[in-house]
Amino acid sequence: MKKILLILILTASQFTLLADNYPRNWNVDVKHYRFQILLNDANDQIEGKALIVVYFKENTISFVLDLVNSTDGKGMKISLLKVKGMEAEYTHENNKLTITPKTSFIKGSTAEIEIEYSGVPIDGLVISENKYGERTFFGDNYPTRGRNWLPCVDHPSDKATVEWVVIAPEKYSVVGNGLKTEESLLDDGNKLTRWKQSISISTKIMVIGVARFAVERSGMVKNIAIESWVYPQNREDGFYDYFPAVEIVRFYDSFIGEYPYEKLANVQSKTRYGGMENASNIFYSEGSVTGKRTINNLLAHEIAHQWFGNSVTEKSWHHAWLSEGITSYYTHLYVEYSKGVDAKREGMKKDRTNIINYYKKNPHPIVYTEVTDYIKMLNTNTYQKGSWVMNMLRRKIGDDAFYTGFRTYYNRFRDDNALTDDLKNVMEEVSGEELDVFFDQWVYKEGHPELDITWSYNKSKKTVELSILQKQEMLFNFDIDFKIGDQIQTVSVESKKTSFSFDTEVLPSEIIVDPETWLLYEGTITGK
Ligand SMILES: [Zn+2]
Repeated sequence: MKKILLILILTASQFTLLADNYPRNWNVDVKHYRFQILLNDANDQIEGKALIVVYFKENTISFVLDLVNSTDGKGMKISLLKVKGMEAEYTHENNKLTITPKTSFIKGSTAEIEIEYSGVPIDGLVISENKYGERTFFGDNYPTRGRNWLPCVDHPSDKATVEWVVIAPEKYSVVGNGLKTEESLLDDGNKLTRWKQSISISTKIMVIGVARFAVERSGMVKNIAIESWVYPQNREDGFYDYFPAVEIVRFYDSFIGEYPYEKLANVQSKTRYGGMENASNIFYSEGSVTGKRTINNLLAHEIAHQWFGNSVTEKSWHHAWLSEGITSYYTHLYVEYSKGVDAKREGMKKDRTNIINYYKKNPHPIVYTEVTDYIKMLNTNTYQKGSWVMNMLRRKIGDDAFYTGFRTYYNRFRDDNALTDDLKNVMEEVSGEELDVFFDQWVYKEGHPELDITWSYNKSKKTVELSILQKQEMLFNFDIDFKIGDQIQTVSVESKKTSFSFDTEVLPSEIIVDPETWLLYEGTITGK
């Protein structure tokens, strides 16, 4: 853990620094946000009214919200701030809003904070033109960009429910988290739309989308509506491309556990990412619509996030692989289910090559605590290597324990937060195996086995003599399979050099290493 000195009127003991460097005040817990946002077509100014319900676990004099302040005509400026209906003292500097009411907050109490603010968002709410030249507004908060337009505790460990009240010119449709509870035309040519998310989520996935949309109900999974929201100009192609989401939700719902939210909208948008998994309204890049159904894997990845990342959320940014690695692996599992095991193995091989190449330039572990710019957590280690760790865990503990483990992990940490140890503990519990070494070498340490494998055939003994040399500095502990003839033999490797012999009547023409693609390694086999 890295310590940072904080000079505040609060005592340092009130803060716990996570492995990442967000100064989370654990005595303050946001329970609910209500954001009213007024949008217009004349300029990019937004008028915001936030109502924030905060619970205090201890007596608290003052507390801090994230909100980017205004500089050079952009950013947010506060015009009014009330605590429990009374105007309160605050400072708003260095993108931190510090609130200090006359009477302090009492342990065990809840307070409503009202904030009126306005400004042009520097980021977070992307106001621009879509590919058809139409004006659009899309929230794109990941990882910590929500604070550009929303006063909030902008860290994945503080989850809250959210209600959106969006007032915008009436030609626009508005999508938000949760369920739509109101849509009313106002006298001034605007429309008011309310969306309410009654399940707690983190700010990284709390967004609205405002555009001209064509909207279809693509199907139902149990009582959950799966909708497609696309630009009207590519309405038919968009509905066609997003339709497989219904089957994907059905697959995960039966495979992992109940879908966590109240609906799922798949939304064509201006997100900077290929897809952004916002809770119950996933935003896809506008290029995702082609009419050729080329994004099934993207749909499978973002939809898996509703369970992993959104519902079970990493408590610290450094554990982002619990979000990206697990969803990348569930995408492979969806491929295995829909296209067969060979297609899954091809995908795993491609990822393995990427991991090996990435490691040469970035010799870091998956949980890499040096990172302070969290967007850099989105890398090959977090996605592909995290996914590969899942694949190896499945091989190690077996399919039954693996799938039961993920169902247990989901149910135990649903709508909550988790760290890597929480996953490890669940997997140990369901498998009865000790997994410290496994998680330590694959998640907390860098690298992978770099192997020199040689073999020879002993004619008199009728055996294949195999030798495995680990060339990398830190030794790994793993099982490796060999296909000799039509048999698969497994060798457990712990030391620098491992020798093994197999009985075989005839000289094999070829020995295939890791024939079913279960091991993250690089290396060659030579022999005769
Ligand atoms: Zn993802």
